[in-house]
Amino acid sequence: MIEQNILEITAELSRASNIVIVPHKGPDGDAMGSTLALWHFLKEKGHNAHVIAPNDYPHFLKWLPGNEEVIIYESNQEKSNKLIEEAEIIFTLDFNTLSRSGLMFERLEESEAIFIMIDHHQEPAKYAHYTYSDATMSSTCQMVYHFIEKLRAVKNITPEIATCLYTGIMTDTGSFRFSSTTSDTHRVVADLIEKGADNSTIHNNVFDTNSENGLQLLGVALQNLKVNQHLRTAYITLSQEELDRKNFQKGDTEGFVNYGLSLSGIVFAAIFIEHRAENMIKISFRSKGDFSVNDFARKHFDGGGHTNAAGGKSDLSLNDTVVRFNQILPEYTKELSL
Ligand code: 5GP
Ligand code: MN
Repeated sequence: MIEQNILEITAELSRASNIVIVPHKGPDGDAMGSTLALWHFLKEKGHNAHVIAPNDYPHFLKWLPGNEEVIIYESNQEKSNKLIEEAEIIFTLDFNTLSRSGLMFERLEESEAIFIMIDHHQEPAKYAHYTYSDATMSSTCQMVYHFIEKLRAVKNITPEIATCLYTGIMTDTGSFRFSSTTSDTHRVVADLIEKGADNSTIHNNVFDTNSENGLQLLGVALQNLKVNQHLRTAYITLSQEELDRKNFQKGDTEGFVNYGLSLSGIVFAAIFIEHRAENMIKISFRSKGDFSVNDFARKHFDGGGHTNAAGGKSDLSLNDTVVRFNQILPEYTKELSL
């Protein structure tokens, strides 16, 4: 994002009052952290800002400062549509195509607001008037910090903003262990701690609030783990029946896919989760090194994401999806075998 854009955005922000901020469907820590941080920042500046999330998000994010002000589109369509209609500026955060806004898609497309995208996914679509896209960034939260920096307003970062931004950087970097974590990430995080983010409490709020059932579901998932040593691949399945048995709550399976990658020698991991209500299998992919799960998800499972973390879906049954996955795998023998 060049200096001229920043000047223009500064001018727009000094004019506009009504602002809507949108994370992607199935919001995660980075999506909620970045939208809520920006919301606090804009509220402090006197804007009439609202975060509208396409659908609900996991319990382990429900403590974030500002959480109670978030509007869930799926259950508040009338109010949301009015806010979208009245919006002069719409920020879309942590996604690269407007269709990731779920049911909000058509209303957003109809809107005449100025769109500002802040996102770290590859291949951003060209729907926004201002696109701040950088796939080398650890997280959208890190980019919101840099965005505030570009607006020369780092001094206005409150403990609430720092807490939201820290949360998203922490979750999107797997607690600072993924290769997207740079010295710059650590510099940003150091400043956020100085500005009031309580790192230990945040980690506890996100990762140490499991339910008994949730932890037992991890046991079921690990029992279902399959490993293909030759192709350095591991995958997990969870059927609807298994989820029901452990009284599945949104967010309970967060991070399960990473266990595959913790196996020695494994560079490609997947989890297939049955969503009977939506008649589909939701898939998460993770990798280490050069193997691009973004390309893999785009090509075979109607999805996308980043090189080392992506998602997709399938309308086949759980069984057939896994069969198909195993049929596709040998096409990647060159990339995956040693
Ligand atoms: P997760 O597996 O945690 O749901 O998502 C991993 C990454 O892939 C995230 O950056 C997420 O935004 C992206 N992603 C997940 N599912 C989809 C999908 O269906 N389509 C696209 N384009 N990206 C996805
Ligand atoms: Mn993200």
